[in-house]
Amino acid sequence: MALQKEMRNGETENGQSMALAPTPEMVVLWEGIHARLRKEFGDAVFRSWLKPLSLQAFYHGIMEIAVPTRFMRDWISSNYLDRIAALAREANDTIQRVELVVAQTTLSDPDTASDPDVLPHSEDIPDALAALSSPLDPRFTFDQFVVGKPNELAHAAARRIAESAHVPFNPLYLHGGVGLGKTHLMHAIAYRMREIQPNKKIVFLSAERFMFQFVKSLRDKGTMEFKELLRSVDVLMIDDIQFIAGKESTQEEFFHSFNALIDHGKQIVISAGCAPSDLKGFDERLRSRLGWGLVVDLQPATFELRYGIVAAKARTLGATVPQSVLEFLAHKITSSVRELEGSLNRILAHADLTASAITLDMTQDVLSDLLRANDRRVTIDEIQRKVAEHYNLKLADLFSERRARAVARPRQVAMYLCKKLTPRSLPEIGRKFGGRDHTTVMHAVKKIEELMQEDGSFKDEVDLVRRALVG
Ligand code: ADP
Ligand code: MG
Repeated sequence: MALQKEMRNGETENGQSMALAPTPEMVVLWEGIHARLRKEFGDAVFRSWLKPLSLQAFYHGIMEIAVPTRFMRDWISSNYLDRIAALAREANDTIQRVELVVAQTTLSDPDTASDPDVLPHSEDIPDALAALSSPLDPRFTFDQFVVGKPNELAHAAARRIAESAHVPFNPLYLHGGVGLGKTHLMHAIAYRMREIQPNKKIVFLSAERFMFQFVKSLRDKGTMEFKELLRSVDVLMIDDIQFIAGKESTQEEFFHSFNALIDHGKQIVISAGCAPSDLKGFDERLRSRLGWGLVVDLQPATFELRYGIVAAKARTLGATVPQSVLEFLAHKITSSVRELEGSLNRILAHADLTASAITLDMTQDVLSDLLRANDRRVTIDEIQRKVAEHYNLKLADLFSERRARAVARPRQVAMYLCKKLTPRSLPEIGRKFGGRDHTTVMHAVKKIEELMQEDGSFKDEVDLVRRALVG
């Protein structure tokens, strides 16, 4: 690949790149991994994302893989890197880490490599728009999206947009932490719309790509065409808009297109890591404008949702995984859905490559590093959220003065768990429960201990909540 020659230009002078060059054995090993990735993820994903990867170097247990653009690096890092690393480790246990390095430094398209194979799915979007749009991940459809309480509103809103003939709310603004399904839902809207409203012109852009296209149009003196193109769409989706923070001219351009589209009744969908009012480095007008339509947040996945997702994923992969293992994963891997998927993949790969059965022991073994990372300390906030969720209460109930048994008992359970699971003192815990006295907390701890001794089913219940918190 021509790309490879350009990279590490600065380093060839001092001969470093020679020293780093991978051995033939490593090249063969990488080719095996590459082939394996194609088999696992299918041709479409492979062509769009994985094909352009190449082995760059291997040293000190680090396998360096070259990718053509920053966008691809980020995308691969969030979606495929876990799997690549797992395969690498399986193939050779001296490999400790896989790192992605960007092999081009000039202004480059963040979403598509220069390899002509890597152009976005262009089958059914008009050419110019196809070239504008970011590629869609074929796995991100509504069918593959598991709905639970934390995301049901976002899911319903996304579906409504995809399936309505008119614009139901504008813009739809989805926000929430990393890996909760924002990008998935946006791609799902695009897929669904293409199915049932094939005439709609849809453009999905990562904020980074939006910026790239805009800067490119300035450079090529094609700003007018860019504006026209952007304003000719029926649906404009911009993913991770927080990335245009501080980029004034890009924001300005976005703001104008945004207003023009909204004025013409065209649908806009935005995702971000935070609520509109919390967007730092954003023009005030833009911030308030973004909040005019429907703002929906995706909450962190609950145990039930995590279980649903990991079970669905196993089903999709056609793998038989014991329920105990699925439950274990859903309990333990709480950091993000992405990591949850990654751990399932790792277990399946391990079972496959070593021809062993999937068991709880094996799972703990294979995931030991991940499990440690997820085994962090529980906080009072988490306990309160979990208890409120378990007893179907509002968080505010735990802080309130209400003494009704249905509220008071769960509040005591929460205090008890705070005492047992965190290093916080009684007065500190009391303060976190609407400024209560430390003697109230002490009383709660005693009371719950008594009840647990007297009543086995109550004990089971408290243990269940405790396990959901610490596993
Ligand atoms: P975000 O854009 O919010 O950071 P993504 O949409 O990229 O998150 O989701 C991360 C990964 O988790 C993707 O592989 C996605 O398919 C998966 N995922 C997230 N939520 C769900 C869900 N509810 N059902 C199925 N898969 C999900
Ligand atoms: Mg995303």
